[in-house]
Amino acid sequence: MKEFDQHISVVTGAIQGIGRAISEKLLAEGATVVGIDLNREAGTALEQELDRFRFLAADVSDYEQVRHAIEVVINDYGKIDDLVCNAGITRDQLILRMAEEEWSDVLAVNLTGTYNCIRAAARQFVKQRAGSIVAISSVIGETGNAGQANYAASKAGIIALCRSVAKELGSRSVRVNVVAPGFIETGMTAVLPEAIIHSILDRIPLRRVGTPDEVAAAVCFLLSDEASYITGQVLGVNGGMYP
Ligand code: NAD
Repeated sequence: MKEFDQHISVVTGAIQGIGRAISEKLLAEGATVVGIDLNREAGTALEQELDRFRFLAADVSDYEQVRHAIEVVINDYGKIDDLVCNAGITRDQLILRMAEEEWSDVLAVNLTGTYNCIRAAARQFVKQRAGSIVAISSVIGETGNAGQANYAASKAGIIALCRSVAKELGSRSVRVNVVAPGFIETGMTAVLPEAIIHSILDRIPLRRVGTPDEVAAAVCFLLSDEASYITGQVLGVNGGMYP
C-alpha cells in the first residue's frame, strides 16, 4: 500500500518545474493527480505521457475558471484529498520602475490564485472533514529581495493567508501548510544571469541550488499522514538560506 493510494490530488502549475515534480511524486505514491495549468498544449501532452494524470486548463487568477475546475474534480471523483497551490510567476522590477501591471499580475496569480483555489475547494474539504492543503511560498516572502517587491509581497501574503485558513479549518481536520523554497533549478530561475546565480550560491550554506524533487519531497511529507499533527507551518527548503 502506497502513501497516496486512492487519493485525489489537485496540483496547480503542474506542467513544469516544481509543480511537475510534485505531480510525479504524488503519482509515484499512488495518487490520481489533477493538474491545473495555463499551458494547454503541454498539459494535454503530459496527460498522454503520465498514467493517472488528468489535465484541466485554467488560469488560477480567474475565480470562475478555478471554481469550474474544482467542480469537475468533485463531480468526477467525488472528493479532493490534497490541494497544492503551486502556480506562480515573477515580473521582477525595482520599485521605482515597477508598473502597476507588474505589481497586479504577480499578486493576481500568486496570492489571489492561491486564495481562489483554497476558496473553491474549502467547502468540499469542510464537508469531508478531511484534507490537506500545501501552498508554495518562497524564502523571498520571508526575507524580501531587491527587484522583487511584488513577488515578495505575494509570497508573504501566502503565508498569512494559509496561517489564517489553518486556524479556520483546523476544527474540521483540514490541515494547511506552506513550503517556502529557496533557489530551485527550474524554468523560473533558468533566465537569471550567471553572475546573479554565483552571488546567490555564496549565500546558500549548502553551496548548491535545490532541485524540484527536493521541494516535492517536503510537499508530499506535509500532505501525508506522517504530518497529521502539523498545520499552519512554513517549511523552508532552501539549503540553509535564512535571513
Ligand atoms: P515555473 O515557471 O517553472 O512553472 C510555473 C508553472 O505555473 C507553469 O507550468 C505555468 O504554466 C504555471 N502557471 C503560471 N501562471 C499560471 C496561472 N495564472 N494559472 C495556472 N497556471 C499558471 O516555476 P517554478 O520554478 O516551478 O515555480 C513553482 C512555484 O514555486 C511558484 O509559485 C514559484 O513562485 C515557487 N518558487 C520557485 C522557486 C525557484 O527557485 N524556482 C523558489 C521559490 C518559490
